[in-house]
Amino acid sequence: MAKTIIVSNRLPVKISQEDGKFIYKPSEGGLATGLGSIYKEGDNVWIGWPGLAINKSDQQQEVITNLKKESMKPVFLTTTEIEDFYEGFSNETLWPNFHYFNQYIVYDDDLWKAYQKVNKKFAKAIQEVLEPDDTIWIHDYQLLLLPQLLREHAPKASIGFFLHIPFPSYESFRLLPWRRELLEGMLGADFLAFHTYDDMRHFLSSVNRLAGLGNSNGQINVDNRKVMVDALPMGIDYDKYAESAASPETLAREVRYRTSIGDQRLILSIDRLDYSKGIPQRLRAFERFLGEYPEYVGKVSLLMVVVPSRDQVGKYKELKEEVDLLVGRINGHHSRLNWTPIHYFYRSFPLNALSAFYRMAEVALVTPMRDGMNLVCKEFIASRLDKKGVLILSEMAGASKELSDAILINPNDMGEMVTALKNALTMPVKKQMAQISSMQNSLKHYNIHHWVSMFMKGLNYIKKVQKDLETEILDNQISDRLITGYKSAEKRMIFLDYDGTLVGFDSDPTKTKPDKELIDILSKLTKDKKNQVVIISGRGRDTLEEWLSDFDLEIIAEHGVWIKEKGKEFRTLINLNDSWKDPIMEVLKGYVDRTPGSFVEVKDYSLVWHYRKVETGLGEARTRELTSHLKYITVDKNLKVLEGNKVVEIKNSEIDKGRAATVWLNKYESDFILACGDDWTDEDTFKAMPDDAFTIKVGNMSSAAKYRVTDHTDIRKLLASLL
Ligand code: UDP
Repeated sequence: MAKTIIVSNRLPVKISQEDGKFIYKPSEGGLATGLGSIYKEGDNVWIGWPGLAINKSDQQQEVITNLKKESMKPVFLTTTEIEDFYEGFSNETLWPNFHYFNQYIVYDDDLWKAYQKVNKKFAKAIQEVLEPDDTIWIHDYQLLLLPQLLREHAPKASIGFFLHIPFPSYESFRLLPWRRELLEGMLGADFLAFHTYDDMRHFLSSVNRLAGLGNSNGQINVDNRKVMVDALPMGIDYDKYAESAASPETLAREVRYRTSIGDQRLILSIDRLDYSKGIPQRLRAFERFLGEYPEYVGKVSLLMVVVPSRDQVGKYKELKEEVDLLVGRINGHHSRLNWTPIHYFYRSFPLNALSAFYRMAEVALVTPMRDGMNLVCKEFIASRLDKKGVLILSEMAGASKELSDAILINPNDMGEMVTALKNALTMPVKKQMAQISSMQNSLKHYNIHHWVSMFMKGLNYIKKVQKDLETEILDNQISDRLITGYKSAEKRMIFLDYDGTLVGFDSDPTKTKPDKELIDILSKLTKDKKNQVVIISGRGRDTLEEWLSDFDLEIIAEHGVWIKEKGKEFRTLINLNDSWKDPIMEVLKGYVDRTPGSFVEVKDYSLVWHYRKVETGLGEARTRELTSHLKYITVDKNLKVLEGNKVVEIKNSEIDKGRAATVWLNKYESDFILACGDDWTDEDTFKAMPDDAFTIKVGNMSSAAKYRVTDHTDIRKLLASLL
């Protein structure tokens, strides 16, 4: 049976060693809870590093056996790998870059090599259990290369990827010397999701700049695969936090804490020690608040939890010292015998203690400089059972996109933080309750289980889209079937696109006149009286007439505007009007004037704006502007606006190659149909063909065609083999 494989750097277990024995404790993190319902089922498995270096093979075997019972499979890392891959490249290169702390990036090729090596190690561990129909869900920045490594091994696998930290703007990402490899690694996935729309658009922009791939509604064509990108903010296990806040153990703790600390009002701050969390900035803001509003001195305290993290590493050590110094200074300066401004804990607390803090505080002050999501602010909201309280939240946290009822601040604006504190402490209860209720409703719905199910839905959806667009490589077996079908048929219909299908591309389109080989193929093909050959092209009729009039074939020009049957002149398929062209041309000229490198191609019944030579990014931006502009002015004009490969085409909506091809399908009975084409306009032809037709796409893109070949030489070979 097909299984699901979850992969993350850390397994959802904490292993410690006591008297030479391993002690296993399940981790309580949000991800472990959310995915618990998945990885423990059937043959599903979670693959990751168990969190400590275990080098002896008998110990490794013991851990493998014990974790297997819990549906986990460990990837063992050596001490050097932990240093170079995890602490090094992951946390000293990617982490600062993705959080816009670029001055902290360590650029070191050896760390990069370790990152590649460990990603390969993970790939190998997955391959040991991977079967063809399995689904793989990879998590986070430590494993950016893994999707592509797996794709190479299992081209059809279902691979999802979620990034739990921000994806930076291209301007930040481009600093990394390994940016292209990292991006290509990620694009091995079928579905990539990020916490926010901003992360998603930053990623798409990097894909555009570095891989030259555009997207349509978040879908990118990567080789022969459609990859989907989406924003999917991770939720919390709402019920767990609400229930914990109501539990007798939490209530007992609250009573105990209150007895020690008195009835002063509390502002809560909880983070891991990290420079991205804005802890010193927050302390300075609180200090300034006490200075500007002395009426709160003696009445309000900051309850600050900092969870120890990497405090032996340079930058973190400095941060710890800065925080210690600031707390000392503020407390030293403002404390009274019966009041301490900051209750500072440099340690980690269990859930019940956190729940008691979440209950006791009136205000949560969550002000990271940058945060992928931030769960603390969501947990605070879920714990407010009486619906009172105020959340002050940094607009740089992913959670701010969902929690718009919080007081949103810019963590670089100390004045704004100080005012926010004052406003929070004086906010009328009615307003507090309205805001907390609204945020609770949202968090209840968009909880961790919702997130897991939406991710799986997204992955399944894009796999289905891929399947619908699947084209098989035209191998020998299919070719033989096609040739047999052709030979045994009495009446054959053959639709051939011209550029890209019968001839290769040339930046100068006047140079793709039929060459000797093509002339030979077309002559033989059209001389056979059983064949009805139709050239179905986007080119203007004059060129096609000039190049092809010697052959006994029929022509569809300008994507179906003009048709030419044997012995007759070109005629339009339907009564078209082109009075729309002049006003639209004026608009397009405006875009050409503003966009160096672009130009307009004029056809009888269509206009095409080309931007192949325009600065990357600018062309796409203008396209968005132009298409929305055109939507507005073409609304009553029966026109279609189509975006193609570096082109925007405006044409009568009645025209497409599929409609034109249908005229032939209706006119001639045939017992063999072949249609070949290479670009998006040929998709209409493929869709118009009956089920038993042989439809062939030239190139690697997804297509409605059944089969695909690499380039026009394959089509020539195929046609030659029919003759
Ligand atoms: N947390 C904890 N004990 C503590 C402090 C924090 O278990 O003493 C948990 C907290 O409940 C939250 C997580 O640590 O679930 C921090 O997640 P967040 O997304 O806010 O920050 P991260 O550390 O992942 O950047």
